[in-house]
Amino acid sequence: MEEFEEFDDFRDKQSTIGDDGSRVWVYPKKPKGKLYNYRKLVSLFLVAVFVIIPFIKIKGDPLLLFNFLERKFIIFGVMFYPQDFHLFVLSMIAFIVFVVLFTVIFGRIFCGWICPQTIFMEFVYRQIEYWIEGNYSQQRKLDDAALGFNKFGRKGLKHLIFYLISFVSAHFFLAYIFGIEYVRDLIADGPKAHLGGFIGMIIFSAVHYFVFAKLREQVCIIICPYGRLQGVLLDRNSIVISYDYKRGEPRGKYNPLEDRNAKGKGDCVECGSCEAVCPTGIDIRNGTQLECINCTACIDACNTVMRRVKKPEGLIRYASESSIADKVKLRVNVRIIFYSVVLGGLLVLIAFLFSIRTDIESTILRQKGTMFQEYDSAHYSNIYQIQVINKTRNPLPVELKLDKPEDGEIMMVGSPLIVEKGQVGEAQFLVIIKKNDLKSSNTEVEFKVISNGRKMDEIESTFVGPNSLDRK
Ligand code: SF4
Ligand code: SF4
Repeated sequence: MEEFEEFDDFRDKQSTIGDDGSRVWVYPKKPKGKLYNYRKLVSLFLVAVFVIIPFIKIKGDPLLLFNFLERKFIIFGVMFYPQDFHLFVLSMIAFIVFVVLFTVIFGRIFCGWICPQTIFMEFVYRQIEYWIEGNYSQQRKLDDAALGFNKFGRKGLKHLIFYLISFVSAHFFLAYIFGIEYVRDLIADGPKAHLGGFIGMIIFSAVHYFVFAKLREQVCIIICPYGRLQGVLLDRNSIVISYDYKRGEPRGKYNPLEDRNAKGKGDCVECGSCEAVCPTGIDIRNGTQLECINCTACIDACNTVMRRVKKPEGLIRYASESSIADKVKLRVNVRIIFYSVVLGGLLVLIAFLFSIRTDIESTILRQKGTMFQEYDSAHYSNIYQIQVINKTRNPLPVELKLDKPEDGEIMMVGSPLIVEKGQVGEAQFLVIIKKNDLKSSNTEVEFKVISNGRKMDEIESTFVGPNSLDRK
């Protein structure tokens, strides 16, 4: 873009790093406008969802649970165990492909509207900052002022509220890992009774506070892997927040008495409003940049200016580079087709694996270190161990049936096996087979695992007899 050559020095520096390498603190002006109001509503809704979800139960279990420590996951009421890890991994891969596809077409829309980092930063912490420290210029003045009663009071109050919010948020994060009951117990019983959870919660709240009080936009610019991937995900057809340089250039200050068209000037009146509201401190007129989180604040700011100077809105808008440069609408390219096919394939595979997912996972092994036993003069016996994982939400009584050989017998050791929901149950049992039925030292046996009259699984194993049978 030859038009931009004179403004090209933005590529040589990072908006939040000064020439001496120090951090340049961003003081964004509070945005106003239609899109900002919509984002407020979306954020309010998402924060409410974040707070409510830990309290929602399906048949006594949480709607979402990510217990990494015990390797137990519940996603929208479906329980996942280590044995379902392949399903979990495939679902995550499908989600990533979906995000990639979405980004290829719609750019970084997720960052501006849904990402918890943006929502907490712009609609929780930043709002408190505006409330306590005033608008962007008052904030800057306060930071530059010497430490006095006013500065100490305002800063102290702000950071106290920041930490309290982080502390409360940490409790909710913990609820997503261990469940809301655990958090209730932690509060009721005190730190001594749940030292591990308490330490985790303190670490969570400290990290949360540090991210929003200090790190802020650096998370999006430097740390977030999704943000770093934008360079390879976006292309000329991706719809991102764009400045229409065809319409805006050559830019020039506004003069109500001047005919801009006659002077060959574009619609950008160089007011700087778009830059002033940007939470990552960039100038969108330089084109799509890695720092842009697609928050739409510059759209609202520029539309306000356009209305004031009686020009059409949309000088900054959601648009692709090709729609601005060549007036081309969204093109379905090879990348979009490829990602769509991969995503479709993954979804079909996941649906298939879910459809064949069983309610229980069972294994039967001959008891380690044991051989055959002479049960009586006409029978041999072997001792086995059964292990059953109950993936349902109800206790499951487990019975065993010997399918092969048909006239063999099963005798459970101890009480009948009942596996509680989400638990692993084990039992031992004897298989008793007529001596005459054994033709070799290794005879194939087949079991049916039954619960409440329903066949849950079929398992094969071997029954060992004396070696002398092989010589017959
Ligand atoms: S350039 Fe615009 S959309 Fe991008 S981060 Fe800045 S204000 Fe938000
Ligand atoms: S807000 Fe609009 S008119 Fe003002 S500098 Fe930005 S692009 Fe130009």
